Amino acid sequence: MARHPNAIGVGSIAFSVIVLGFALAVLVQARQDATARAIENADNLARVIEHDITYTAELTDLSIQAAVDGAQDADVMRLPEHLRKELLFDRSATASQYIGSLLCLDSRGKIIVDSTSAVPRSVDLADRLWFTVHRDNPNLGLFISRPLRSRLNPNEVDLMFSRRVNHPDGSFAGVVVAAFRLDYFKNLLSGVRLGPGGAITLLQDDGHVILRYPNDETQVDEDFTGRKNFERFRRTHETSFFGTSGRDGQERLYNFREFEKLKMIVIIAPSSRYVFADWTSRAWYIGIVTALLIVGLLFAAQLLSVEFRHRLEVEEHLRNMTRIDGLTGLTNRRSLDDRLMLEWLRSKRSGKPLALLFVDIDRFKNYNDTYGHQAGDDALTAVAQAIARNSQRQGDIAARFGGEEFVVVLPETDGAGAAVVAANIHSAVRALAIEHTESEHGVITVSIGVACTDTEEVADALALIKVADQAVYRAKASGRNQTSAAEPCGDAAVTT
Ligand code: GH3
Ligand code: MG
Ligand code: MG
Repeated sequence: MARHPNAIGVGSIAFSVIVLGFALAVLVQARQDATARAIENADNLARVIEHDITYTAELTDLSIQAAVDGAQDADVMRLPEHLRKELLFDRSATASQYIGSLLCLDSRGKIIVDSTSAVPRSVDLADRLWFTVHRDNPNLGLFISRPLRSRLNPNEVDLMFSRRVNHPDGSFAGVVVAAFRLDYFKNLLSGVRLGPGGAITLLQDDGHVILRYPNDETQVDEDFTGRKNFERFRRTHETSFFGTSGRDGQERLYNFREFEKLKMIVIIAPSSRYVFADWTSRAWYIGIVTALLIVGLLFAAQLLSVEFRHRLEVEEHLRNMTRIDGLTGLTNRRSLDDRLMLEWLRSKRSGKPLALLFVDIDRFKNYNDTYGHQAGDDALTAVAQAIARNSQRQGDIAARFGGEEFVVVLPETDGAGAAVVAANIHSAVRALAIEHTESEHGVITVSIGVACTDTEEVADALALIKVADQAVYRAKASGRNQTSAAEPCGDAAVTT
């Protein structure tokens, strides 16, 4: 793993994105499943409704056909009224609670046989469409009217099922008609549970409503032609789609089914909210859990990142501590050895000069004895900083060698250059003006020894230190507060 605190942040964000993507994919899939299940349920329901209505319509038609056969038989029509009725209308049809009445009409629209009345009621029905269509067209077969308020029983709304009766020569003899009560459809559809906001509509294929549930009768016979969702079905023949109701603005899943044998369409339209009710609660659940997970993850990553950063800082600090002298802040002895070796090798390779200063504070034992150890430490630190300030070129190393002794490594510097640095250090230390009554100079001073790679006896890096150290002794012997250079750093043998 990359040792970088940002890696934790980037990793946790990437992981969060993956978790989020996964949660979204699950939700999208679940939503599609919910839609597919709702369509399947609606389709099953539509099939059962179609089957029930078709079966009932066929039974009714069979009764009408039987009556037509009887009405075309001259012998039957000659029978006394009550017998004729027995023969024309089979009992199962008249017993059906949904058939209001079965009537046989003559060619002028007058009732000649009436299933619900011993004496045929005298109502003029000649203007009704279910009558005139047969009068005007001999080959229509079964005709099913739009919902009509019954003239015989005004409390009833019926669909009229009618067939033509012919004379033996094929001319129009009248009509047999069954008043099929809308209550049948109402009972059928009202048992269906579509959930809140759901609606189920039965239409004739010309767009006229037979019944809508749940809702009021005011919509019976309303024309759906031109209505957005109905027209979409007619235009595209899509059987299932989400649409907004033009009436109440609710979004619903519209499912259309055209009946095979009857000219009817059923629309099963549960509300979208109901279709996705389970999905919505699951989406909340998954959403909240995912959000908590991601927040928790990011929070943990943040804590980890802070901890990691802190640890890196501690490590860095520890690493520095192993390289840096605690009192003066200069490079320590161990690090000096490593870095001096590197500079030595580099100088060998490049052929460029390398110089080294050995700096020793004069009469420092006396200073400690006079001013105390704490003041000694402060003076030592001040001198160290003066040395560091004067060896700031790229590659320069100012190190505490031990006690009151310092080493300054000066890469790419010859004896003359080293002498300049040494002179600067002398002036800087003197400028500190730290009183030292026990020194012949009155203030804190240093003695400096210079070694450089030109010096013949310098065979390795450590020898460079040794040569410089020896040069310091000469500077001390010559009166301190001066620089002494090993031969042949010649020019550097400048005293201050
Ligand atoms: P010279 O001029 O010959 O160098 O005399 P000197 O007294 O400086 O030399 P010497 O080597 O005899 O004494 C070094 C003294 O430096 C010994 C000790 O009292 C002092 N010293 C070394 N390290 C420290 C330190 O870390 N803190 C303090 N306060 N004094 C130190
Ligand atoms: Mg010393
Ligand atoms: Mg000393």
